[in-house]
Amino acid sequence: MSDAKFPVVFDGHNDTVLSLTGTGRSFFEKSDVGHVDLPRSEEGGLGGGFFAVFIRDPQNFEELTDPDQAAKKAMAQYGDVSTMPPPMGLDHALPEAMRMAATLFRVERESQGKVKIVRTAAELQHCLDNGIFAMLLHFEGAEPLDTELDALEVFYQAGFRSLGLTWSRTNAFAQGVPFKFPSSPDLGPGLTEAGKNLVRKCNEIGIMIDLSHITEQGFWDVQAISTKPLVATHSNAHVVSQSPRNLTDKQLDAVRDSGGVVGLNYHVGFLRPDGQNSADTPLSVMVDHLDHLVEKLGIDGVALGSDYDGATMPADLKDAAGMPKLLSAMRDRGYDDDSLRKIAHANWVRVLKETWGE
Ligand code: ZN
Repeated sequence: MSDAKFPVVFDGHNDTVLSLTGTGRSFFEKSDVGHVDLPRSEEGGLGGGFFAVFIRDPQNFEELTDPDQAAKKAMAQYGDVSTMPPPMGLDHALPEAMRMAATLFRVERESQGKVKIVRTAAELQHCLDNGIFAMLLHFEGAEPLDTELDALEVFYQAGFRSLGLTWSRTNAFAQGVPFKFPSSPDLGPGLTEAGKNLVRKCNEIGIMIDLSHITEQGFWDVQAISTKPLVATHSNAHVVSQSPRNLTDKQLDAVRDSGGVVGLNYHVGFLRPDGQNSADTPLSVMVDHLDHLVEKLGIDGVALGSDYDGATMPADLKDAAGMPKLLSAMRDRGYDDDSLRKIAHANWVRVLKETWGE
């Protein structure tokens, strides 16, 4: 049963396409595997989210049926630049991106109107108002894009509207932070010339730039170039958990000054003050991050970015069906209905409208 007491949630990040392609499970059937499918979303009041196209390294192509195990493996393999695979080629990344984007388009087509890939903020709002599950086509890492930006034009026409320049590794455009803990996010170089061109092109045609995973220097390079609000779809407060995946107060100040948004990441390793990958993590820690994000960004700058299907959730939350527990914990901490509505979905709708222009 959806919980009518809480506003519908639109979520800033999931790896559900990876889970669907990796396990073969159906988006339309309730599963015990992973975190998101349509039945569990309806149960938890999840109305949609950013669906990531994420390309696994060719050296790393075993089936990943368990998101907890996948997260633990990634934390180890990508814990340091020295243990990461070399940057992948376009010959691997482009067909994989086609396969993953096609998975989403098939879900939309087979949904009989229950699922829609949204291309404008107005479409997103319409879906949230009418109980249509809204999918936003996002790339987590620009590996499938050629530096001439031909693929970008084609994917844009297909519905691609949000781009993380890099995951926690290196590509032709930018570099991401390894998962070491504790660490500052200042762990490598910023944007290449191709990366700067890519930011300008995304500004021009209406693709949101996502700053989660990027090095601190890359963050400041985007801040210097971009004409749009700064957004990190799934990152937490570095002052609470000193992971390089989280944002320092100085970075949060820059997000606030740009009118941007940060989505709370539910991964225990980015939530816990000790950085441990343990599901035995109380929901109060999530609200501690929210409190700090709201203090720095204001209530209009904070949203949710679960990392469902790509990370280890707190055991009490479990999966998309557990969303009301987080919203309850927020209400217990003193968040009123208007604040809950903004964090649950309205801040995403606002910043996407400002970024896309429609
Ligand atoms: Zn991520």
